Amino acid sequence: TGQTQEWLQQYVDDWVAFYRKHTSDGEVASYIPVLQQADPDDLGISIIGKSGMTVRSGDTEIPFTLQSISKVISFIVACMERGVSYMLNRVDVEPSGEAFNSIMHLEMHQVEKPFNPLINAGAITVSSILPGKTSDHRLEPIYLLLEQILGYRPELNVEVYESERDSSMRNRAIGYYLLETGFLESDLNVTLETYFKQCSIEVTIDDLARIGMVLANDGMDTKTGEEIIPRQIARIAKVLMLTCGMYDASGKFATYVGIPAKSGVSGGIVAAVPPRVREETMPFTDGCGIGVYGPALGDKGNSIAGIRLLRHIANQWDFSIF
Ligand code: GLU
Repeated sequence: TGQTQEWLQQYVDDWVAFYRKHTSDGEVASYIPVLQQADPDDLGISIIGKSGMTVRSGDTEIPFTLQSISKVISFIVACMERGVSYMLNRVDVEPSGEAFNSIMHLEMHQVEKPFNPLINAGAITVSSILPGKTSDHRLEPIYLLLEQILGYRPELNVEVYESERDSSMRNRAIGYYLLETGFLESDLNVTLETYFKQCSIEVTIDDLARIGMVLANDGMDTKTGEEIIPRQIARIAKVLMLTCGMYDASGKFATYVGIPAKSGVSGGIVAAVPPRVREETMPFTDGCGIGVYGPALGDKGNSIAGIRLLRHIANQWDFSIF
């Protein structure tokens, strides 16, 4: 009801105001020069429920790039294009416990395939499997899926893309390693270009909330009832988000927050809260998608205030899936 919504809005406004002070505990990513231009004090959240009920608060209008959040989308698209079993033969679904851009684990553990599609080695492998001769061909199904979910076609932030491309020594090193081991399925340069571009697609927190909502509903568009992502693929995506989505802080996030989520170094977080049966008095019991933006990052590369805000809301509203 309108009254409940007002009441929820009040809570979320207070929580955002409170956690905004925590942004000073973190720092904006600097390894990609353009990302450093973000305002570290920014914090915003958008929550979209199944019924369409929306609560938004803080800095809601600021566009930012998907960065690592794109890894979930590209994996989903690759599964839709090439099939789940094909993909699971080429990238594993195990948390690595290492930093997202680690190259060490690939060599040290003599792995048969990259640990999972949400670390760079796995994501770059996925980008090499997407069909298409050019990066723009490979990105097309990613754009089409996003367009279906968001209701508009998002755009590439060219400045971020170029900055990313020009400061990509480590990702190139990972790429060459993957090439040498035979994990890579196609041309390295096209693959890296695809990867840098997918990271540089620009969105808002409302967009992330919509993506979260579709995943929360196992791939179904809540308005039309249409299946946008096959259920099996949506489920695997959520498993990966839960076990590997928050870099090497994923176990802690699962413990203290308990919902599938994926963050990126630009400060975005997408979270999918499935329907819950208990606690009918709690808001959003039929599930919701959440988008968060807070570019000041903690030491594991997650939005510092964003995580604390999510943790608070998840505890208050009993969002944990466990
Ligand atoms: N473009 C980033 C990189 O690979 C993505 C990192 C991230 O968001 O974790 O360096």
